[in-house]
Amino acid sequence: MFKSRVFTLYPDYFPGYLEKGLFGKAMKEKIWSLEIVDIRNYAEDKHKTVDDTPYGGGDGMIMKADVLARSLDKNLPQDEKIIYLSPKGKIFDHNCAKRFSEFESINFICGHFEGIDQRIIDSRNIEEISIGDFVLSGGETAVFVVLDAILRFVPGVLGNVNSSKNESFENGLLEYPQYTKPQIFEQKGVPEVLLSGDHAKIKDWRLSQSEAITRDRRPDLWEKYKKTKKN
Ligand code: SAH
Repeated sequence: MFKSRVFTLYPDYFPGYLEKGLFGKAMKEKIWSLEIVDIRNYAEDKHKTVDDTPYGGGDGMIMKADVLARSLDKNLPQDEKIIYLSPKGKIFDHNCAKRFSEFESINFICGHFEGIDQRIIDSRNIEEISIGDFVLSGGETAVFVVLDAILRFVPGVLGNVNSSKNESFENGLLEYPQYTKPQIFEQKGVPEVLLSGDHAKIKDWRLSQSEAITRDRRPDLWEKYKKTKKN
């Protein structure tokens, strides 16, 4: 079973859509689990304080290292992988999702305010991961993004094991255009080749479409793809 645990100040946000559809089904079948830890429960003062002002001054508040440390130490059974969702982190991508899906258990810390005390990141060997070059108001939405992408690689979660194989990024390219019934929609048909039944031709057409789309929209991916193709 792939075990995930989320440390958050907003436990009510979870499980959200992760208990619906294929993810929900897989959760019921114990292919994966989600445990939520309310960080605020580990605050020890009367007001349940979880944040304080930054040393050195500046705007906003910082999540306290001592409260976060207690929440982690009381809930992590052993040396488990811990991720902090953070705009300062390495950018999350397809390969990162694959790598994380290979852990037996994974923990996510959702930050709020101006983020968390650096000492907790250093002392608990925490990896910082960003979902893009923009700033969110909290880590929860980022956890949904990251967990969704990881779960697709956990064996047994997607009904059709092949359905992740042909997707965007799997071969370093974006996906080709897709069509379904009706065959005529607003006077537009579908590309002839897709109706030909010639699987080799369809494969070639899809590859050339993928290449054209990637070259046009993602020069960064295109450069990498060209290099791997040469080798
Ligand atoms: N002051 C911080 C931003 C804090 S945003 C800075 O400038 O770097 C508040 C919280 O939202 C963060 O602690 C983090 O958990 C989450 N967050 C914001 N943007 C994110 C992103 N791009 N990826 C992942 N998490 C993000």
